[in-house]
Amino acid sequence: MGRTYLEHIGGAKLFTCGSCETVLTNKNELVSTRFTGATGRAFLFDKVVNLKFSDVQDRQMLTGRHMVRDVSCKNCDAKLGWIYEFATEENQKYKEGKVILERALIAEADSFEDGETIPPTHNNRDRTQS
Ligand SMILES: [Zn+2]
Repeated sequence: MGRTYLEHIGGAKLFTCGSCETVLTNKNELVSTRFTGATGRAFLFDKVVNLKFSDVQDRQMLTGRHMVRDVSCKNCDAKLGWIYEFATEENQKYKEGKVILERALIAEADSFEDGETIPPTHNNRDRTQS
């Protein structure tokens, strides 16, 4: 009794680089899934880690003019999306400092907070086929 559960503090769902599986962010940071990138569906996140940033670029988008930086994976250099530095339209200001990751370029993974991970070698050892 009185047991404290901490399982979902970091979010149960992680988003990782689609190329090297470096953890980038989690579902708690997800703001919107209704964005479109060069490859199709894209997600807007509050905070993303392990990124490299390009120089600022002036980009005209459907929602107005924005100053953005392209973002790529710090570990493997794969392009992942972009970050909004500055929005000229008043109603787009909420995007400033937020990061777009393109759905096709990232992967979703469940974290192992429940401690139910099965060692991969276990399966192999049981499999004794002749
Ligand atoms: Zn990567």
